Amino acid sequence: MERPPDRFVQFVVKTSKLCNLRCRYCYEMEELGNKESMRLEQLRQVYRHIRDYYTTIDGRDGRRTDVRFIWHGGEPLLIDPAFYWSTFSDQEAVLGDGLGRTNIVQTNLTVLDDARLRLLRDGFDSVGVSIDVFGGLRVNIAGRDQQDRVLEHMDVLRRERIAFSCITVLSRRNVKHVDTICRFFEQSRIPFRLLPMFDGATAEQNADFDLDTGDILGALCAVADRWLQSDGHLQVEPVDEAIRVVVDHLAGAPPRYFDKRAWTPTILVNTDGECYSLGDPYGDPAFSLGNLFTTPLTAIMAGERMERSCRAAEERMELNCSRCKYFGSCSGYPIAEDRSSGRETRQDGIQVCVVARGLHEHIERRLREAAMVGAHGRLHLPVQTVARPVAADAAAAFAKEEFAPHQPHPRSP
Ligand code: SF4
Repeated sequence: MERPPDRFVQFVVKTSKLCNLRCRYCYEMEELGNKESMRLEQLRQVYRHIRDYYTTIDGRDGRRTDVRFIWHGGEPLLIDPAFYWSTFSDQEAVLGDGLGRTNIVQTNLTVLDDARLRLLRDGFDSVGVSIDVFGGLRVNIAGRDQQDRVLEHMDVLRRERIAFSCITVLSRRNVKHVDTICRFFEQSRIPFRLLPMFDGATAEQNADFDLDTGDILGALCAVADRWLQSDGHLQVEPVDEAIRVVVDHLAGAPPRYFDKRAWTPTILVNTDGECYSLGDPYGDPAFSLGNLFTTPLTAIMAGERMERSCRAAEERMELNCSRCKYFGSCSGYPIAEDRSSGRETRQDGIQVCVVARGLHEHIERRLREAAMVGAHGRLHLPVQTVARPVAADAAAAFAKEEFAPHQPHPRSP
């Protein structure tokens, strides 16, 4: 019998930058009209390179890797569904049964027809929908907010029992509404990620919407407070993970450390095949790890660029994590690799973990205030009362077990 995968790697595939929206903060803004797309043959080559690299590693250590393809853009559903069915067949032919494979699409959900519904239901394993709930920044080319259409389509997905989670970009336009945003997702029972806005395509682009790390930390602390009072249906990253870290810290759980050299969990593949590590500046050719259309992944992972990327991640961990009491419960991943986690760059160029550490401290303080932490720093509650599934993996379970069919989600205010 086929063994289930026991680890995963994610490839964020920028199939095409073409998009029907012009979300005001989009870091791809300058390329959203570009119709260029990855070709099937190029993707076949990507699969071959991935297969060769991970089957070798699995053969060495006896584990089994699930390769997760996150189809990204632009708007990936503007591409003809036939393209995805073809590339899924190619995956099957090239990857075979040796590796696990999962296909996830991140969509603005503004374009939905029967062919795309079938693709979302029977082709992709998981769906991520972008919706900000407040702010009016997700607009079409004419500048009109598209949220009502997205909400209608979310209702269609629910009627069709298609599992999905959401990503909400946190900006100055919706930061005051985080509590209502949480209530919206909690009542809808939709897991979501609150993602602080990335830098724009130009320095000026996000001047009106940007947040500093203090604002981001304040918003996430407010979300954590709501989480701690919720009835169990609020699933929100990165707060779910931060609560797990603090619970593990207080419970003295076995340590775990992020080691990018041993395992790089996410690689971004740009439309031209150039690869980027999540911790490095995206799209800057100086930081490309190599081209996955033309270069074996084995060579990319052993290359000088990858070595530089690993060293930079290790330096950030050394400067931050070695003095952090949560290190071991927190693997160090937020400062090593996650650019969305709220790093602050000091004047001397050193990047400081402000948001993740501040969030952990806030959660611990709240647990102590609620007398959940005993005299020796141990948690009074059984761990399972606060440790809940991670949003992405919970979406499918939600859809199968807990979604009430034909019941529309509450409208956003
Ligand atoms: S909270 Fe930040 S500094 Fe502390 S271990 Fe995690 S990443 Fe490192």
